[in-house]
Amino acid sequence: MKVCKFGGTSVADASQISKVVQIIQSDPERRIVVVSAPGKRNPSDTKVTDMLIALAKAAMEARPFEDELRAVVERFGQIQRAFGLDGTLTNQIEQDLRSRLAGNKQDKMVFLDMIKAAGEDYCARLVAEVLKTKGIAARYVNPRDAGLLLSNDFGNAQVLPESYQNLAALRQIGQVIVFPGFFGYTRDGRLATFPRGGSDITGSILAAAVKADLYENFTDVDCVYAVDPRIVPDAPPIRVLTYREMRELSYTGFGVFHDEAVVPAVKAAVPICLKNTNNPTSPGTMIVPRRDYRHGEVTGIASAGGFSTIYIGKYMMNRQIGFGRRLLQILEDNRLSFEHVPSGIDNMSVILKTGGLKGSVEQQVLQRIKKELEPDELSVEHDLALIMVVGEGMRYAVGLAARACGALAASGVNIEMINQGASEISIMFGVKQADQIKAVRALSKALLGVGNP
Ligand code: ASP
Repeated sequence: MKVCKFGGTSVADASQISKVVQIIQSDPERRIVVVSAPGKRNPSDTKVTDMLIALAKAAMEARPFEDELRAVVERFGQIQRAFGLDGTLTNQIEQDLRSRLAGNKQDKMVFLDMIKAAGEDYCARLVAEVLKTKGIAARYVNPRDAGLLLSNDFGNAQVLPESYQNLAALRQIGQVIVFPGFFGYTRDGRLATFPRGGSDITGSILAAAVKADLYENFTDVDCVYAVDPRIVPDAPPIRVLTYREMRELSYTGFGVFHDEAVVPAVKAAVPICLKNTNNPTSPGTMIVPRRDYRHGEVTGIASAGGFSTIYIGKYMMNRQIGFGRRLLQILEDNRLSFEHVPSGIDNMSVILKTGGLKGSVEQQVLQRIKKELEPDELSVEHDLALIMVVGEGMRYAVGLAARACGALAASGVNIEMINQGASEISIMFGVKQADQIKAVRALSKALLGVGNP
């Protein structure tokens, strides 16, 4: 059996939902369908989730919100009318949204989650009704009834282990299940959401729980490309990726699939296929546990800006037991996660997202490092971009780093930092953000033979 997840643009309006219906109809193995909230119908449109967030804020600030509320209901009303359904569901949606908005606002995060998850819930109810009118035995299933239990980190929830056992029962249901993405419930019954884009995570959890043969993730692009096509327009498609390659690529800007969503599928070894709702016969990109590869082959190059580095130099650092731990403790106390920690005999750098250092956090961290670690050198650099060169075959590559460095040098890019991942399937280059595009183009030409530096 297959679990299919359809993203926001796939359910943005009635014509998109018609494509979803056809995709489900065309394969009886597609038994569990996870939907996002309706997304943008055109570039200047607003996602339903963003409309709901604005609505929640208006309600929390006691501002009038009638127009915004009507606009949300109308998004669903349009779809309902286009499929010739009567107005019952739209009326229920309006009532439900009004009662959510009248709910307890004491804990803002809890209130916000309750409102912002409504888009997925209404969309799943609507898609189930549409499928029924097309003669498909479909059923909406609520995450509470199915036992999708989450931690109470509202807006950033994690799945609780017992969910998998609870959700396994869905395999026995004979109908096509339509399940809303993005949210579940805490053990004490409050609604909690995953981070933004989290419907991918719901799909992956369900695929793992029911031990699906395949998790299909439908978006609006044909596949993952070896380089962002906005930077290198002739970037080749990637047909097969391993989970590890996906991870290394996804967290630096391969935005097609939520990086957290890889985890449940990996644990259950369910392959993932990224496909396009607008072109469903295209093979898409498969993400699998293992694959064949050629030695020296680079699979993809990903990049992202918005990083900072904290550099610490201290003579005899390598002899100081616990130095690294104490440094990372300071980050932990400030709720900062890090991306990489390149180190030398007497120095360490911590690379982290610049956003985490906002406000007084940067100064607090630096003060503590000064006081507790007494470094000889301490500096912070912002506006850094990371470029990841990734490939299973890179482990056996002789001279690949030399070619990469040569290409960067030839295009006049200064390498601020270089780090080979411990798994040896990636090399990270840190460059000034202003050089990001130039560097990606140079590396693409040298390592993948595409684009012009
Ligand atoms: N609708 C949610 C968002 O826009 C979740 C999702 O689409 O996956 O973030």
